[in-house]
Amino acid sequence: MFLSKFSTSGFILGSAMALLASAASAQTNPFVDPKAASGEHFHPQGKPPSAATLQYRDSVKAGLPFEDERDFEEHRRGFLKAPPFTKIMADAGHIAWDMESYQFLLQGKDFPSIHPSLQRQAVLNMGYGLYEVLPDKIYQVRGFDLTNVTFIKGQTGWIVFDPATTAEPARAALKFINDTLGERPVTGVVYSHTHIDHFGGVRGVVDEADVRAGRLPIVAPENFLHEAISENVFAGNAMSRRSRIQYATILARNPHGHVDQSIGKNVSAGAPGLIAPTISVSQPFQEITIDGVKMVFQNTPDTEAPAGMNTWFPDWKAFWAGENVTATIHNIYTLRGAPVRNALNWSKEINSAIYNFPDVEVLFASHSWPRWGNARILEVLRAQRDLYANMNNQVLHLANQGVTINQVHNVYEVPKSLQGQWAARSYHGAVKNNVRAIINRFLGFWDGNPANLDPLSPADIAPLYVEMMGGAQPILAKGRELNDAGRYRESGEILSRLVFAEPANQEARNLLADAFEQLGYQSESTSFRNSYLQLAAELRTGIAAGIAANANSPDVVRAMATDQWLDFLGISMDSRKAEGMRWTINLVTPDNGEKFVVEMSNATLTNIKGFAKSDAELTITIDRSNLDQVMVGARSFEELEAEGKARFEGDRRPFDELRSILTVFTPDFEIFPATANARPVPTNVKPFQFGYDLMSVTE
Ligand SMILES: [Zn+2]
Repeated sequence: MFLSKFSTSGFILGSAMALLASAASAQTNPFVDPKAASGEHFHPQGKPPSAATLQYRDSVKAGLPFEDERDFEEHRRGFLKAPPFTKIMADAGHIAWDMESYQFLLQGKDFPSIHPSLQRQAVLNMGYGLYEVLPDKIYQVRGFDLTNVTFIKGQTGWIVFDPATTAEPARAALKFINDTLGERPVTGVVYSHTHIDHFGGVRGVVDEADVRAGRLPIVAPENFLHEAISENVFAGNAMSRRSRIQYATILARNPHGHVDQSIGKNVSAGAPGLIAPTISVSQPFQEITIDGVKMVFQNTPDTEAPAGMNTWFPDWKAFWAGENVTATIHNIYTLRGAPVRNALNWSKEINSAIYNFPDVEVLFASHSWPRWGNARILEVLRAQRDLYANMNNQVLHLANQGVTINQVHNVYEVPKSLQGQWAARSYHGAVKNNVRAIINRFLGFWDGNPANLDPLSPADIAPLYVEMMGGAQPILAKGRELNDAGRYRESGEILSRLVFAEPANQEARNLLADAFEQLGYQSESTSFRNSYLQLAAELRTGIAAGIAANANSPDVVRAMATDQWLDFLGISMDSRKAEGMRWTINLVTPDNGEKFVVEMSNATLTNIKGFAKSDAELTITIDRSNLDQVMVGARSFEELEAEGKARFEGDRRPFDELRSILTVFTPDFEIFPATANARPVPTNVKPFQFGYDLMSVTE
């Protein structure tokens, strides 16, 4: 039984005692599913793995390199201490982080509802506590968030690399290392890249006043602030919804549900924030010494994030890979939605590290665990370099011979030599997504078939398919037959047509859910697994009620440029209701010296910075610091006007018209018809508020 390899010891929390404790506290901890420990399905209509899934599982297991246990040695190495708690509370009173809910993974059981390779990764991600990466120099607190909190020991204090997603886990990590190794101040912070799990917890480790007073630097790559905000502004609500599918953040933590996030267990739910960097790394390689520690920052734009960097510690031969090298194939296309990433450039930046830092002895990163020794590190770096380059080049090789976006995932194969390396497996980014994305990046979505130039919408073409297939009954019979034969992708195809044609046909929905569920169990990638399992649950019992539209972090909103917010208003207004509206508003923000002309014409809102029109119908004057209050939903324009903090000069009609057509987006739209929950979505988002949650768009 391969699970004998997952021995549990002190370095990961996990024991029969802890499981008993978790069962006892299950009523008070919403993350703990009492059925998880016994392996019972969390959903009343849930099915166990089928014979076909078990057979598939056995066949893939036989081909995996389980004899290579170096990851377990590396993830265990340097363990100093586990904390005496399994939960981190949010300042707001709820549970921000919980490791108890994943205890079921440490029972030494082989779960047939989890891909064997993914189960291995899910156990590796149970690392919890303080680890010494390089004695007296580099430490990591792991398992307090999706992201490791990394501490570099300077002459007088800690330099924190990537302070987690939210403040509470970051604060707990700092306290834990200080309690264990002795109290030291934070003397610097480094943000490796623009995703919120790498900066959101900064307020847990530093006081903004100290940063403003110049008492410690915050280092980030060039364009950090702009890219951190802009990647997620325009399609943010869709990304929030889609990330709830890709990450299945509200699915039960259970062997049949959520088991892992591939680069960590989950994302912490505390308070996200942002303090602007004070040092911008603009050179390809830039040396900076902080608190006596010499660092060479390697800028890596256009890789895992639009702005990012690695760091080389020349005196220690240690290499921080940010998120460019972790223990998985990463996302070229992340299913929550983002522009397709540049696989070739990603490969080139890893290659640059290989050739610029050839005597590396320690490799560590913001996720996963470190690697030690030059040969081992180069093995991992080369695997990752070759993987991204191979996907890019071989996909284009195939595309140049006519393989389309609708075939390539069934044609492309990762080279055998890479398939046998754990760090090149599809835990986070699925190769199938990535290779389709590469075609999309270079050629777009069209496969060249004119039938696909102007396709009918799924709900419009589905009735014809159902009619031609002889109605619902033969489709259900065939769907059942295909499911019984383990042909889930095919049953998914025909049953999906039936569900679109007959949204009320619960039998069809259940059969489709059964197919998705088995595909989820068979998936190595958490992006695939979570998407299949989340949609199976939605087909069975609808979208979970109570998915709130979240207000955003005030820090993040403050960092938005005013023109980004005006662009966002152009997206949140419903153009169909704006026919006939025609006006111009001047917006003036005296405290930062900015002005904008906002024009409504042809049912479209546009804006331009640096101009004012003398014949505008309305001029609104408001300090940007007060506009922030409107953007976070704390105050209305009217309240600020009554206090003399906003001035409206001219005709108010344009303002009233614009407000009347603004839509508040909520992250609960249907993927399949008739899956919406009857309960209204709670939202306290106000018009003009930038009202969705960048928290949910991390990787
Ligand atoms: Zn990350």
